[in-house]
Amino acid sequence: METLPRFDDILEQVQAYMPSCDEDLLRRAYIFSAMAHQGQVRANGEPYLVHPLEVARILADMRLDEVAIAVGLLHDLLEDTYVTEESLAEQFGEQITGLVKALTKISSLEQSYAARQAAQAESFRRMLLASIEDIRVLLVKLADRLHNMRTLHFLEPNKRRRIAQETLEIYAPLAHRLGMGKIKAELEDLAFSHLYPEEAQKLSQEMAARREKAAAAIDAIRAELAALLAEYSIEGEVRFRIKHLYSIWRKLNAQGISLDQLFDFLAFRVIVGSVAHCYAVLGLVHQRWRPVPGRIKDYISVPKSNGYQSLHTSLLGPEGLPFEVQIRTRDMDEVAEKGVAAHWLYKEGRDPGADHHRLAWLRSLVEGQQESPREFLDSLKLNLYPEEVYCFTPRGELVRLPRGATPVDFAYAIHTEVGHTCVGARVNGRLVPLRTVLKTGDIVEIQTSPNQVPRRGWLDFVVTARARSKIRAFLNKAEKEPARQLGRKLLEREARRMGFGLKQGLDGLNLKEALAQHGFAREEDLFAAVGFGKLAPREVLAALVRERPEPILPSKVRPLPAGDSLAVEVRGDRDLLTFRARCCQPLPGDPIVGYITRGRGVAIHRRTCPNLRRLSLTPERKVEVHWSLTAGSYPMPFHVFFEDRPGMLAAISQAITNAGSNIRSCHLATEDRCGVVNLEVDVSGREQLDQVLSLVRRVPGVTRVGYGFTQAFRQVLRPRTTQAAGS
Ligand code: MN
Repeated sequence: METLPRFDDILEQVQAYMPSCDEDLLRRAYIFSAMAHQGQVRANGEPYLVHPLEVARILADMRLDEVAIAVGLLHDLLEDTYVTEESLAEQFGEQITGLVKALTKISSLEQSYAARQAAQAESFRRMLLASIEDIRVLLVKLADRLHNMRTLHFLEPNKRRRIAQETLEIYAPLAHRLGMGKIKAELEDLAFSHLYPEEAQKLSQEMAARREKAAAAIDAIRAELAALLAEYSIEGEVRFRIKHLYSIWRKLNAQGISLDQLFDFLAFRVIVGSVAHCYAVLGLVHQRWRPVPGRIKDYISVPKSNGYQSLHTSLLGPEGLPFEVQIRTRDMDEVAEKGVAAHWLYKEGRDPGADHHRLAWLRSLVEGQQESPREFLDSLKLNLYPEEVYCFTPRGELVRLPRGATPVDFAYAIHTEVGHTCVGARVNGRLVPLRTVLKTGDIVEIQTSPNQVPRRGWLDFVVTARARSKIRAFLNKAEKEPARQLGRKLLEREARRMGFGLKQGLDGLNLKEALAQHGFAREEDLFAAVGFGKLAPREVLAALVRERPEPILPSKVRPLPAGDSLAVEVRGDRDLLTFRARCCQPLPGDPIVGYITRGRGVAIHRRTCPNLRRLSLTPERKVEVHWSLTAGSYPMPFHVFFEDRPGMLAAISQAITNAGSNIRSCHLATEDRCGVVNLEVDVSGREQLDQVLSLVRRVPGVTRVGYGFTQAFRQVLRPRTTQAAGS
């Protein structure tokens, strides 16, 4: 049996690194704990007091302050003895009592975890972190768990398995998150040996054999590393370690490899005085042994998220034996083993403020601990996940959200339907606007109404991808619906006109080719594009025409009704129905091409029209056309951007009048001191249009002029300020 720990040894250990420690506090804590636990025994028959003493010793190994060590001595009192909160507070004050209470609370949370699924592990870990106000609670908890794991074999198998499982799922990852590599490794190996005793034993034997086989090489490499340091007068030390059991097992399993293929099975650690020396040693090591490509890792310039810093490189040693070298400074090494504790630990004569300065989040985590915990989850100052907030439903379920999240994000996190119908929110019982930013610990109650629908304005403040995409999807669907119906109608009408002879509209039509040609996945999207006017119905149906070719004869082209045609000649024949293609709006003066449509005459395109290129899949329909001498007037759309100042519209219409043109319609919109107007003017041809545009361009305040209507400032499409000027 191990020798029982003695309080005086622990006190001595603490005094060695903290000569000014409050000896009286520690002694009182010890005596109080000893009295309270009197008569209790642990599963192995030892006096219960051994446990708090061992926990205190582990905390002293971490070099924690006297408060943490006192809490270690007292940590089981509220849970396992008749000591009350009041008497504890009377003896040791608010702070220590608060910390012991927090530890007791964790135990009760564990009970709830035991009843849950393993899939809950991550939320449970986060919950634990979010619940703790003082990092020392977690450090004492880890020390407590470590000692329990060290003595786990005395418990009955079922209980043993459960605790080992919980350690693997909750506490080892927490130790890792806090950067406490040493404790994490020990917790994992202990849990592993209890959960998978045979595998653990087999692997450990295999490793021992391997290590023995490589013993000579290990000694040689170690000696050479030391010699390298000496040769270049770099002060430092060389250590050897074997990767810990569980991490090897996990790696072998995850990658399906054998021990031989593991580059970091054998690792040497070179601890030097400065960062410059770290990189110098890396260079020397690479000169001496062949590095394995792709295995050099610089965690000094890019530390791991838990603060770990080191250089890693894998090398090929004698007889192709792979090994890893880790190079770091003393400070980095301390952080690597002790993590958060390395920053918290007491160092004589060192300004703790300056020390903490390195990790801003850590400071925020140790501040504000003097506040007495109200409902435990209330005033959470500790934030190990600064990018996240944790809120609760009124029933106490945890909802994890990114920083900046609002009640709408919360509602969508619960259920899409709750998001769609949310009308209001109570946070901690108070009614708040939906755009309120939530804080960790907020209890959020969402109010819904069946009449509510998602608002576009919500997109301005939601931060979760889920809320954003659900709102977008809803709005898109709602806004697209009328366009979709219109597009469908237009297509049906066009199909009838083109003689598809459909009985039930489009349903009998194979639209696949049209979908593929225009890059749509679903028919609804195609309909919507037609409805929005992005695609002409005949353009869509052209694809289907190809499937069922029909002779295209000039006889199909009907003579045009008088007065409705363009002044163009088609192959010398002036009596054909012609119309200006809407896509490019050709004007007399433009080089043009005709395209024979089905039953609607000849569409006149500009030669440069991009649509024409698409239509050239049926070249036999193209015809030579040219402008005849007959004069006429043609509507031409264009748009003007301008600075929003008084008299702009008057100045623009004056410029149009000066060019001898007439305004047919005019739709105006302004936004953020910019204006845009969609205009339709009558011109006799290209020449006059150019004149109109050039005069408009010269109006002071006009910033841009372009062909066609623009959809900028969407309202322009739905004219609110319609003015017909000059007609
Ligand atoms: Mn305990």
